[in-house]
Amino acid sequence: MKILVLNCGSSSVKYKLFRFPHPRLIEKGLIEKIGEKDSSVRTHHEAIERVFSDIKEAGFIKSFKEIEIIGHRVVHGGEKFKDPVVINRGVIKEIRKNIKLAPLHNPANLEGIIACGKILPSARQVAVFDTAFHQTIPPFAYIYALPLELYKKYKIRRYGFHGTSHHYVAHEAAKLLGKPLRKLNLITIHLGNGCSISAIKKGKCIDTSMGFTPLEGLVMGTRCGNIDTAIVFYLHRQLGMSIESIDILLNKKSGLLGVSGLSNDFRKVKSAADKGNKEARLALDVFVYALKKYIGSYIMVLGKVDAVIFTAGIGENSRWVVREATKGIKSMLKDSPKVLVIPTNEELMIAALAYKVVKTKGTP
Ligand code: AMP
Repeated sequence: MKILVLNCGSSSVKYKLFRFPHPRLIEKGLIEKIGEKDSSVRTHHEAIERVFSDIKEAGFIKSFKEIEIIGHRVVHGGEKFKDPVVINRGVIKEIRKNIKLAPLHNPANLEGIIACGKILPSARQVAVFDTAFHQTIPPFAYIYALPLELYKKYKIRRYGFHGTSHHYVAHEAAKLLGKPLRKLNLITIHLGNGCSISAIKKGKCIDTSMGFTPLEGLVMGTRCGNIDTAIVFYLHRQLGMSIESIDILLNKKSGLLGVSGLSNDFRKVKSAADKGNKEARLALDVFVYALKKYIGSYIMVLGKVDAVIFTAGIGENSRWVVREATKGIKSMLKDSPKVLVIPTNEELMIAALAYKVVKTKGTP
């Protein structure tokens, strides 16, 4: 059977087509600039029509109906979705409800789902949520020390993101270590443009660094990660910045870019630092120091750690980061953890989860 995985962003649709049950990637691609002035693709509906026709024209399918399952990456599942689900009207309603929690992502994810429903109604659609893997985090780790009313009424809490990536590399680590995931304690570290770290106890996520939004936690390409929240008041009251411009500052102009003044691209910052650029060196030091602090705190949270796993663009490629962030870890613990680098594959995980849910749950 063929499974199409879609990642619908605000102006792009990424796709991968797999053959199952013995997973094999058949084709992948990207439609960009949706809705932009000079673009021939005006809507997500048109983009997805393009995906289907590209796949057909390339000869990977003879008829659209060969695609039996469509797996969608959906960013925010709120508290409702702890697992992937076969999409029906109720699921669509819930994803719509969560738009207020992920205003930049959930609308595009929804448009993709609705378009697929119209273009290929025979396919089963499955939503795989970025937040779902983190739904096992206990209340004392997901509740912020704010008036509890804010959680009860408005669901302000830690959700965590990159869940599918953390889940995938944990799964792969279990294979490499030759033990079932439910018997392993792991620290998984996703270091790409966005960065996050998770503590996994006996196969279940018990803490993660991203929070109510993907801004919290580690230093990232353009996001600041953890800062003193009172800086926001200072920027507003003393420097006269608007809430909108502070939002842009913290999300788009901080992190590696903000400190180095050069780039959000790790490779560029590293190469400048190696040539003697002081700000670039400082940016790398700030980046690694934040990471070390998190690894240390998750060791404390987990007690015993079987492996520390690095993934995504920086995690998979920068030996320097892996070495610096784990320096001394082996001598800290009685049973020293393995340090592993495992390439992430969120799309394959989405396809596998979608296949499993359709096989076990069947009709929506
Ligand atoms: P991602 O979001 O997973 O695509 O990761 C993007 C980040 O990975 C960027 O900061 C890149 O500079 C970084 N990256 C990609 N390739 C390498 C590499 N060979 N060495 C170090 N960093 C890399």
